[in-house]
Amino acid sequence: MSSSWWLSFRGADVKCKLCGGTAVINMHQHRLSLCGEHFLQWVPVQVARAIKKYRMFGPDERILVAVSGGKDSLALWDILLGLGYHADGLHINLGVGNGYSAESQARAEAFAAARPGAALRVVDLAREYGAGIPELARMRRGRKACSLCGMVKRHIMNQAACSGGYDAIATGHNLDDEVAVLLQNTLRWSVSYLARQAPVLPGEPGLARKVKPLVRLRERETAAYALVRGIDYIYDECPHAEGATTLFYKEILSQLETRSRGTKEMFYLGLLDAREQQGAFRSDDEKVEMHPCARCGQPTTAPGLCAFCRLWAGGTKDTQGEV
Ligand code: AMP
Ligand code: ZN
Ligand code: ZN
Repeated sequence: MSSSWWLSFRGADVKCKLCGGTAVINMHQHRLSLCGEHFLQWVPVQVARAIKKYRMFGPDERILVAVSGGKDSLALWDILLGLGYHADGLHINLGVGNGYSAESQARAEAFAAARPGAALRVVDLAREYGAGIPELARMRRGRKACSLCGMVKRHIMNQAACSGGYDAIATGHNLDDEVAVLLQNTLRWSVSYLARQAPVLPGEPGLARKVKPLVRLRERETAAYALVRGIDYIYDECPHAEGATTLFYKEILSQLETRSRGTKEMFYLGLLDAREQQGAFRSDDEKVEMHPCARCGQPTTAPGLCAFCRLWAGGTKDTQGEV
């Protein structure tokens, strides 16, 4: 993220609403400007409220935080540790070139090294499974790197959470991420995604609970939190990022928000309300039957191997054909 908004804002000399000191952030939607100290108190309170409101996890549960090395997930880990949760980290090195994965891992490791008691587990895709995302995408021609990457991350996160005995996996998705995905899902009327997009996905046998504690915070707020806390994070977007579309949706949503304050919350909370209170997107179909993957044991709807294991079943060389 560019820090230009931050610098220009500091020049504006707005006062903290609580102490009158120089504000580091002005949150228009909350009509609240805060100094660094008060902002660092405000953020964890918002996160604690989201955890409680959506019943994400209790004080004694063990949380596995999926840390990419970006601002959101490192801020999340920092906040959960600060709130006193037992939160360990998981970083997946996806083997993306130009130093992107190496830099990301280095940020996650540096964060953990600076906090005694913050345990980080690293899973290196190429080392543990034989190929990183770019190679995998080349081998499985026709599969986009981003969709492969999403599936691989979900699998590894779940595997790590289940084998490590964690109660939940926490990801750093913020409100802007969620609203952009919601816009995409709505434009495509992806009803099955709309049915499942939520701050909490309850666990099932073999599938760990998934939670998004930053769901009420905006990207600008998580970035400011990381900056004020002095967290060193990777600014760059993944070079493979489908990002272009998501960034475009985020831009459009910010324009809507500028015209009409609160649009993002209204859109997102409206989805939750439509589903919980009004029964929208409820499927009357029988629940899909799951069975354990023949190789890894994770629940899958496919007969035989799960999608992740099928990826590797043909070997990891280009010549060994599509799966
Ligand atoms: P993304 O799908 O890249 O927008 O990331 C969403 C969330 O997934 C992040 O906030 C992290 O919690 C998690 N995540 C993304 N990439 C990784 C990674 N390489 N290792 C661990 N967690 C990740
Ligand atoms: Zn203050
Ligand atoms: Zn499997």
